[in-house]
Amino acid sequence: MPRVFNFSAGPGTLPEEVLLQAADEMLDWHGTGLSVMEMSHRGKEFISIAEEAEADLRKLLGIPAGYHVLFLQGGASLQFEMIPMNLIQGRAIADYIHTGEWAKKAINAAKSLADVNVAASAEDRAFTYVPAQSEWQLTERAAYLHYTANETINGVEFGWVPDVGDVPLVSDMSSNLLSRPLDVERFGLIYAGAQKNIGPAGLALVIVREDLIGLGEPTPPAMLDYATHAKTRSMYNTPPTYAVYVAGLVFKWLLETGGLAAAEQRNIAKAALLYDFIDSSDFYVNPVEKADRSRMNVPFRLASPDLEADFLAGAAKHDLVELKGHRSVGGVRASLYNAMPIEGVQALVDYMAEFATTKG
Ligand SMILES: *Cc1c(COP(=O)(O)O)cnc(C)c1O
Repeated sequence: MPRVFNFSAGPGTLPEEVLLQAADEMLDWHGTGLSVMEMSHRGKEFISIAEEAEADLRKLLGIPAGYHVLFLQGGASLQFEMIPMNLIQGRAIADYIHTGEWAKKAINAAKSLADVNVAASAEDRAFTYVPAQSEWQLTERAAYLHYTANETINGVEFGWVPDVGDVPLVSDMSSNLLSRPLDVERFGLIYAGAQKNIGPAGLALVIVREDLIGLGEPTPPAMLDYATHAKTRSMYNTPPTYAVYVAGLVFKWLLETGGLAAAEQRNIAKAALLYDFIDSSDFYVNPVEKADRSRMNVPFRLASPDLEADFLAGAAKHDLVELKGHRSVGGVRASLYNAMPIEGVQALVDYMAEFATTKG
């Protein structure tokens, strides 16, 4: 069967070139007679794979020398807990911006470990916008400010980077890291589960400024302490070796296709194609404030919600899969990660037009 267009929010679509290369190297990586899956994580072969992945990520994002790159496990969800454990000293307060489902999870996790101030919330309008920074109720000398750069479920994305002075800026970029260039220097810590826009599930990336390591009071247990993983270059225990390898192939694919500036141009074009179609139609609706719409995840409803099951079944027949909205919100959602080609978005728009004509 030919490959389908996979609009899953995560684990998401990966570049076909990357999958083909991984397949080609599956049984024999670079003449070793071993699959990467079978290699010792302490052997020179895997160490070269991990070091190259880190070097390529640093090149892509322009990560300065004063930042550590950690390859961890436990998903973005473990970071919801590791961040307060590692960044809060004593009774300091952490500020959070509440923009939707993932922000809520981060807030609830932090609340069990620290004093949390929700500095702004978009709950008043059903999480369809990013609250303006001028309205945030920030804590003076907060331990950090946390925001969710892209809300994967409700399709709301920060198109700008908050300015909170000397307070360390912490961001969950699980679903939009590598979708556009980023000024890493403005952040204290960036984290992402890999399975949205980076690589296979099982890997979480943490990019953390040196001075934020070793602050946590009380000192976190070793596995939950950034200091442990920074000191051992993510080799304290066995890292998710195969996921690191595939993420490394994705980094190379991005470098070879023009880097993040080129990826951003492709992502702008794909998102515009779908949003423009939705806005031109009476049959489909996206409720998000235009300036805050996500380029990565586009949720939408049909004029008659009872046609949604029909819509999804018909889409699958057109090889357009994984379009069902998150179970918490329903509806339809198309995720347009880096590896989704514009041809996939065009095929989706063509199908949507046809469906609206026949059923609308
Ligand atoms: C998927 C997602 C998470 C959770 O990731 P896990 O790796 O499953 O823990 C957190 N934040 C955002 C923005 C996400 O999209």
